[in-house]
Amino acid sequence: MHRTHPIPARVLPVNPALDSSGKIKPRVVVLGSGWGAMTVLKSIDHSKYEVVCVSPNSSFNMTPLLAQAAVGSLDFKATMESVRSCGSTQLYHAWADGIDTTAKHLLLTPAYPPAFRTAPPATLGPDDAPMRSFPNARGRQYLLPYDKLVISVGAYNRTFKTPGVRENAWFLKDVQNARSIRWRILEVFEMADHPTMSDEQRRQLLSFIVVGGGPTGSEFAAELHDLVKSDLTRIFPKVAPLAQITLIDASSGILSSFDASLSTYARQKFKRDGIKILLERQVKRVDRGRLVVEPDGEIPFGLLVWSTGVCSTPLVKSITCIKKDERNSFLYTNEHLHALASQGEVEATSSSEATPSAPKVLSDVYAIGDCAQIDGVPLPATAQVAAQKGKYVASVLNGKISPETKFTFKNMGQMAALGGGKAIVDSPQAKIHGRWAWIIWRSAYTFMSLSNRNRILVPFFWAVNRIFGRDLNRF
Ligand code: FAD
Repeated sequence: MHRTHPIPARVLPVNPALDSSGKIKPRVVVLGSGWGAMTVLKSIDHSKYEVVCVSPNSSFNMTPLLAQAAVGSLDFKATMESVRSCGSTQLYHAWADGIDTTAKHLLLTPAYPPAFRTAPPATLGPDDAPMRSFPNARGRQYLLPYDKLVISVGAYNRTFKTPGVRENAWFLKDVQNARSIRWRILEVFEMADHPTMSDEQRRQLLSFIVVGGGPTGSEFAAELHDLVKSDLTRIFPKVAPLAQITLIDASSGILSSFDASLSTYARQKFKRDGIKILLERQVKRVDRGRLVVEPDGEIPFGLLVWSTGVCSTPLVKSITCIKKDERNSFLYTNEHLHALASQGEVEATSSSEATPSAPKVLSDVYAIGDCAQIDGVPLPATAQVAAQKGKYVASVLNGKISPETKFTFKNMGQMAALGGGKAIVDSPQAKIHGRWAWIIWRSAYTFMSLSNRNRILVPFFWAVNRIFGRDLNRF
């Protein structure tokens, strides 16, 4: 049969890139484009390695600024950075769906919809023999060989299997989520502004619920409060006073990872602002526009943002060759951030650490960020930990630090913005709250933006929005 397009081999060539002296560069494949991955991509020596990133997101999202983007205090583009800005990184816009640490192959699925594919290969060609290590591979998938692998695929939103959350709640994990939240906030205000609405209907629409009183949920509640009290009160003066923000948590406090004096300060500030805090509540179900919670019963909402921590991604769940915790939540590494082989897995390692009793080390595979933990040294799932691990891996690969040096986490503390120009900062050196903490918060996140472009854009948008009001366009 005549074919208009040749069927491409489904195994990408090994080591095609050469360095300046004509030698083949080892291929480092980085999975993900979040905090851990981007730090590696930014810091690794691109002249030494062929650097490939595999991610369904072609941009990094600056997560600590997403709450601000969701309420129009920042433009979305100030919270994003293209992966392609990292040296000569080759990006494959794809999901990694399988890892074979013996053959050193990854199984990739393109992240675009199948309809875009013109000539899908139906059967395996002669060059595709290695594909057979993934017997369940489907038509569009292909293999990418690696020399070194860095797994930084992050985590998903945890829902505790509460019925209706995935269908009826909003999440705040990336820029797309922030965009959809901004859209919904404006939509419910526009709906409530119709003259045909009763005040009761308006109250239901303008009920904003945040489930999860950790830093993400609390910061979003605070930012939303500022938006409602300033720009939305100006634009919708009749209906804005009917808006109610409710923060719900299963525990007895909010921001409980902070020093007790700071979380109490936050709670008092929220109360003064009129943010209702419901503690020790059990969410039973989320229906369309209605939350069922014990002991309160049904609470209607126009927007419910769900932020109750993280759980493992499908890739981490499916990996069998790497040691994991009993709950299948994260990958275990040693203190050099090398993945540990799962029991029974035969792997080639030259590491001197491997003794008959010690777990075997996959010396070409690193695992960092929210998807990984050092065996016996648990660290929080934060950007800070992911970025420090990413920096460490790049330094080892660049030869800047000896592979014998262990990773050590330097705790720089934690911060949360509370709205109204107030924040809390909990660092090993000091516990600060109020205006100074807010200045530290803003300076830190301006500085932590990964590019000079965003270090200029972030304060620029803050200034513009302060003068002219927030961006309240729905797009
Ligand atoms: P992520 O940054 O989540 O990146 C994971 C990447 O992997 C994504 O690009 C994803 O698309 C990709 N991916 C997923 N599956 C696959 C796959 N199968 N194949 C390829 N790629 C895949 N931490 C702080 O320290 N301070 C803060 O102020 C703070 N604020 C936050 C605010 C919000 C709204 C959120 C959501 C988080 C916040 N965090 C904060 C936590 C912090 O963002 C995470 O700990 C951090 O992003 C973890 O980095 P990571 O690289 O492990 O994963």
